Amino acid sequence: MPNKSKENGERTRVLIVGGGFGGMGAAQKLKDADADVMLVDKHDYHTFQPLLYQLATGLLESAAVGHSLRDLVQDQENATIHNATVTGVDLDQREVQFAELEPLTYDYLVFALGAEVNFFGVDGAAEHAFPMYTLPDAVRLKNQVLKLWEDADRHPELVDDGTLNIVVVGGGPTGVETAGALAELYRGVFAKDFPSLPQEKARIVLVEAGPALFPMFKENLRTYTEEALTKRGVEVMVGEAVESIAPTRVTLKSGAVLDAHTLVWGAGLQGNRLVQSLGLDLERGNRIGVGPELSVPDRPELYVVGDVAAITDAKTEQVLPQLGSVALQSGEHVGETIAARIAGKKTKAFKFRDKGTMATIGRGAAVVQMLGGRTMKGKTAQLAWGTVHLALLPTNEDRAKAVIDWAGAGLTHQRAGRIIVETEEQEVREVRN
Ligand SMILES: Cc1cc2nc3c(=O)[nH]c(=O)nc-3n(C[C@H](O)[C@H](O)[C@H](O)COP(=O)(O)OP(=O)(O)OC[C@H]3O[C@@H](n4cnc5c(N)ncnc54)[C@H](O)[C@@H]3O)c2cc1C
Repeated sequence: MPNKSKENGERTRVLIVGGGFGGMGAAQKLKDADADVMLVDKHDYHTFQPLLYQLATGLLESAAVGHSLRDLVQDQENATIHNATVTGVDLDQREVQFAELEPLTYDYLVFALGAEVNFFGVDGAAEHAFPMYTLPDAVRLKNQVLKLWEDADRHPELVDDGTLNIVVVGGGPTGVETAGALAELYRGVFAKDFPSLPQEKARIVLVEAGPALFPMFKENLRTYTEEALTKRGVEVMVGEAVESIAPTRVTLKSGAVLDAHTLVWGAGLQGNRLVQSLGLDLERGNRIGVGPELSVPDRPELYVVGDVAAITDAKTEQVLPQLGSVALQSGEHVGETIAARIAGKKTKAFKFRDKGTMATIGRGAAVVQMLGGRTMKGKTAQLAWGTVHLALLPTNEDRAKAVIDWAGAGLTHQRAGRIIVETEEQEVREVRN
């Protein structure tokens, strides 16, 4: 039912591009706004990136990490979803272009396209590395690992060529969480699945260019993390950078060559490449700088949220990190701000509520650092991690399902998701070969 929320009698059009934490947060806070809300994403699902490593290691299945976007706004009468890829934005004409959809105009644009992997020009990375940023990335990595173990089971001589070895690049949360989860998969599940294969020859090497893992954490948490990984059978190499990547070899800047048929890239992100075509000044990491209400200076109708935004924290005057909590809270704030503007109400500056920085290393091992500097580690930290991440999941059903999956894996140490599901593309390629 059209309303008359603008002077010319047309209904206000709010276009949200990107259905991650930022875009969904904005859409949901516009539920009661007198506006047409259009959310467009190139996928038909919302991705819960913090759990990608659990999908890649068979702990969770795809539906626990990707949630239908249509499902998420089913009760929101003023919202529509389109599955299309943004190809350009004309900020002066207030129009967004898509690959598969006619252009859409807007009165307000919420730009929430997130970030993408940055290989920093490392030779061979784009062709051979396995990034961990999207749901297909996680499925691809899982299939690769499972296939290589099946190959080695059929041809054990491959083990000496490094077929089971994995190099994980990046000592931040993505690299550490992935390395820890792979170690549990290898030393726990695969040790039983493939009893004839030599575990001691299946190496997991975590490579970090800086002097320590987890630079954002205090010394005691960094030491704990390194010890917890080592205990799980991960070899930690700090002060080493990757020079080039070939299908079965990884060359480090020091000249060392690692025999490994899989390299997981968790070393860097940059804002979505589309930002380069907007004609705006960009900040470090390809991010768009925003003002206190998260709109772009001189473009009051353009809001930017989440990983693609450079949001300066009012308290610390530092740019906020690319985290789910920042994306969700910034998206929600923008949804509320636009709703207030439509209703002619006062708007407020964004204030980030920090719930601490945290990461898991494995079962019963996690680290948390609170804003005031308090730290937690071990099981208490894992409980805190679970609580914060359950709150980020989009629905109660997702939360219930995650609890069952996590409890199940904790009790049985099994990973029901460790099956190879071929994509059509892979099957076609294999038939042609
Ligand atoms: C492996 C991993 C682990 C993480 N772990 C944690 C953690 O433990 N805790 C935490 O707080 N944060 C974590 N993060 C960070 C957190 O997930 C991100 O900060 C958050 O997802 C950012 O949300 P966003 O909405 O800005 O972007 P995204 O979630 O990336 O959403 C962007 C959306 O835009 C869509 N899109 C992109 N390009 C186009 C296009 N051209 N056209 C149409 N749609 C497009 C994408 O499909 C996507 O749905 C992790 C991230 C990764 C990768």
